[in-house]
Amino acid sequence: MGPDEELAELTAWQRELRAQFPIITSHPELAYLDSAATAQKPQAVLDAVHTYLTTSNANAGRGTYPWANRTTELVERTRRRVKEFLGDPAPEQSGVHFVSGTTEGLRAVARDWLGSYLTDGDEILVPYADHEANLTPWLEAQHLLAERGTGIRVLGLPYQAESGDYDHRAFAGLIGPRTRFVAATHIHHVYGGDMNVHRLREAVGPEMPICLDAAQSIGHLPVSVAELDVDFVVFSGHKALALPGAGAVWARNSPVRGPEFRPGGWQGTPNTVGIASVEAALDWLDAAGMDRIVSWTTALAARLTDGLRHLAPYEILGCQASLAADSAVQRRHGIVSFRHHGIPSDDLGFILFSNGFMVRADSLCQAGADEKGASVRVSVHAYNTVEEVDRLLSVLASLA
Ligand code: PLP
Repeated sequence: MGPDEELAELTAWQRELRAQFPIITSHPELAYLDSAATAQKPQAVLDAVHTYLTTSNANAGRGTYPWANRTTELVERTRRRVKEFLGDPAPEQSGVHFVSGTTEGLRAVARDWLGSYLTDGDEILVPYADHEANLTPWLEAQHLLAERGTGIRVLGLPYQAESGDYDHRAFAGLIGPRTRFVAATHIHHVYGGDMNVHRLREAVGPEMPICLDAAQSIGHLPVSVAELDVDFVVFSGHKALALPGAGAVWARNSPVRGPEFRPGGWQGTPNTVGIASVEAALDWLDAAGMDRIVSWTTALAARLTDGLRHLAPYEILGCQASLAADSAVQRRHGIVSFRHHGIPSDDLGFILFSNGFMVRADSLCQAGADEKGASVRVSVHAYNTVEEVDRLLSVLASLA
């Protein structure tokens, strides 16, 4: 099925979902196209937060009266829920650690796990053109280790110039006897492409730990840790329809791939309200159907990309080839970034907002990107419509 047939088939389903987002339905004059930055929240998530705060609010793991017990149970239940949502094949072995978001989660892996595991002369491979959040923690770990007299080498994952995907052939050449760890990204936050992490697994073999930044995939497409065969999955609740300030690190804890992940130090009070929102968001996403959500958002992105390709002054970043949902080439998810040859991206962002479109227009927190690298990013979720994409295309065409 092509993207347009897919959109037609899902229209009624999508209309019902969209109606569940109060901020969207109360602003019909605006189109929110910045879900890669943060996603809007369905009524079910707002209700869950309200219910928790008005029936059970207490601290977790620190009391024995019913509200405290219910809060402790909420945290434990949400841990189990995260594992289930990720299709965890061995939940009795894995761990879920709640953090404020992907940035803090990746830093926790770098500080509390990687730092204790590497020895002098070890090498790690990390992405240098993905999100800053997936580069800085590894460099900080290198710095901390150096202060303790342990020198490690940090190598950059190689990229294909055309698509923005990792260059898996060049990658294989970087693996050596001292390679101990790989950090990668599931869906690129600028190019929208699936970074095909299974090819990294093929190249490194079954015993290498891989940490995956899943900020742009959890809540956007089905994610199976069994299929991905990675060791850490780190995500932000706010990009998956939950509240800001609540995310998670899922750790496989496979004994052949390094020590168990044990977050260090005193942990303090967890963000119980945020955790309640994560549970409700995962329930909502499963009920809505992750397969349908990914079909819808991928088809919208394909429609936008195909429209933009016919507008001469625009340059699409990342994969340029056929982007249809069933295409054999790299598959683009719900993110399309582009530039206009004659209009600076920040100006284009203002022009689009003056026409009712909320998009991101800057260097997108991409590691290594500066102001010259600015672009406009359109990112969609289940609440976006074909009509919004078509209206955006006609405004972009009027600027051609
Ligand atoms: N990684 C990727 C791929 C992202 O897109 C983002 C946010 O945009 C992050 C990490 C950081 O997420 P947070 O700001 O929620 O910590």
